[in-house]
Amino acid sequence: MTVRDYSHYISGAFEAWNGETVERRSPASGETVARYASGTPADIDRAVTAARKAFESGDWSELSGMERAEVLNRLADLIQENFERLVRIEVEETGKPIRFARGDINGAVGLTRYAASLGMQMAGTTYTNLGRDRTALIMREPVGVVGLVTPWNFPALILMQKVPFALAAGCTVVVKPSEFTSGSTLEIAALASKAGLPDGVFNVVSGKGTVVGQRLTDHPGVDFISFTGSTRVGRNVIESSAKNIVKTSMELGGKSANIVFADADLDAAVDGALMGVFFNNGECCVSGSRLFVQSTVADDFIARVARRASELKVGDPFDDKTDIGAMIDENHFGKVLDFVKSGVAEGAKLLTGGEAAKLGSGHYVQPTVFDHVTPSMTIFQEEIFGPVLSVTRFDTLGEVIGLANDSQYGLSNYVWSKNIDTVMTVSRRLKSGWVQANTIIDGAPQLPLTGVKGSGFGYEMGQAGFEEFTQLKTLFLHTGPRQPVFGS
Ligand code: NDP
Repeated sequence: MTVRDYSHYISGAFEAWNGETVERRSPASGETVARYASGTPADIDRAVTAARKAFESGDWSELSGMERAEVLNRLADLIQENFERLVRIEVEETGKPIRFARGDINGAVGLTRYAASLGMQMAGTTYTNLGRDRTALIMREPVGVVGLVTPWNFPALILMQKVPFALAAGCTVVVKPSEFTSGSTLEIAALASKAGLPDGVFNVVSGKGTVVGQRLTDHPGVDFISFTGSTRVGRNVIESSAKNIVKTSMELGGKSANIVFADADLDAAVDGALMGVFFNNGECCVSGSRLFVQSTVADDFIARVARRASELKVGDPFDDKTDIGAMIDENHFGKVLDFVKSGVAEGAKLLTGGEAAKLGSGHYVQPTVFDHVTPSMTIFQEEIFGPVLSVTRFDTLGEVIGLANDSQYGLSNYVWSKNIDTVMTVSRRLKSGWVQANTIIDGAPQLPLTGVKGSGFGYEMGQAGFEEFTQLKTLFLHTGPRQPVFGS
């Protein structure tokens, strides 16, 4: 296997690097697949300076929306042309099944094209009703230099939930990808230069979160920080940003409820339960990891979910038939298994799985389903971020709303019912930024994602996600003669 060696991407080129590196081993095979520069605070400083210079030059920020869209659409073309390479990088570095990695790269293309179209519509408002000779223009401007921090579970997809939106608005960016999965980010930055993006507009610094991530989010030269990651680190980033009084957007953890009423299409809901928790190895912020099933159909429904879970194919992420690949690293793999042990110890009923899947040297966990989970249990409350489903039975709508909202998180929730009254009532009463009915982990670039409570704030994707990268400036304009205010 060829090992990919990367250095930072600053001012439109990969820099020479002979410092320390972060070695990435495939979580599926244990083989080294990439080495990235292990950056220092000075590397972030250089990248922020490059981004500032590029922003102030106006070479990007003052282009028309149409010109920016042309570059972004060329970038989308280049991502498509490099599809197989990017998919391979994602699979090697994350351990996710290849069919999901294909979906990620296709998603990245769609997000880029959609963001390009939004840049062409960037507009403010004009007030002409303020009285004679008085007009106000509320102008929408790019926010400036943006610091982006991304996680490891969807490296290219989450990157492109941010970067093209920032670029379409005219911003320049410095990205700090996860130290486990920096490859696709660095490759996409180089493709952006090839697409015609001016030097210094899209910079990437790799390395440890506690070093380069910390410096980026502390940096006084950054105008906006868009962070996706855990609630723990998000809290730290908010504290850092307070020093510089900088706007932040926080896309944090989740513990979503997936609620199945007895009147649902139960075949679809069984599929939805599996998709909800086993998609992307369960390493998914919007994972439907808490399944609530109405008691009248619960025994049969839960037995079907457990049986189907036990039949899922765990193993080589490059195999098209694989459903669940390898956990991101040994440490995380251990944490997932510890959660499973806590489920057993706290009295949940293990229906299937519950152990590591012994397949070579990879970090694989069997698809696991627990029944009779109660709100006091750790597996009900904590984000496990692995293929572990907790199931709780309920009788009434009011009861399940209380159970679903009993969480520190509020990212996403799901409801299955054929009754529109039930769907609407539940959707309105769930405390989360996102609710999906009769579908699960669905989405489109037009739809904003946001969280409430411990899941964060700020928007990603959609018009609202685009506007995060802009700010309003009000120009109050007086024309014609003015009456003196003082004297005559
Ligand atoms: P982490 O919070 O551990 O890391 C996220 C990013 O922050 C990484 O790039 C990490 O770098 C960096 N980082 C770590 N420490 C610091 C620091 N002190 N200052 C600044 N940056 C830092 O999350 P994971 O990568 O483990 O991702 C999983 C989490 O992300 C889950 O909680 C999941 O729910 C959440 N998530 C939320 C989404 C949403 O849209 N709401 C979407 C996807 C994931 P390094 O890798 O080098 O440590």
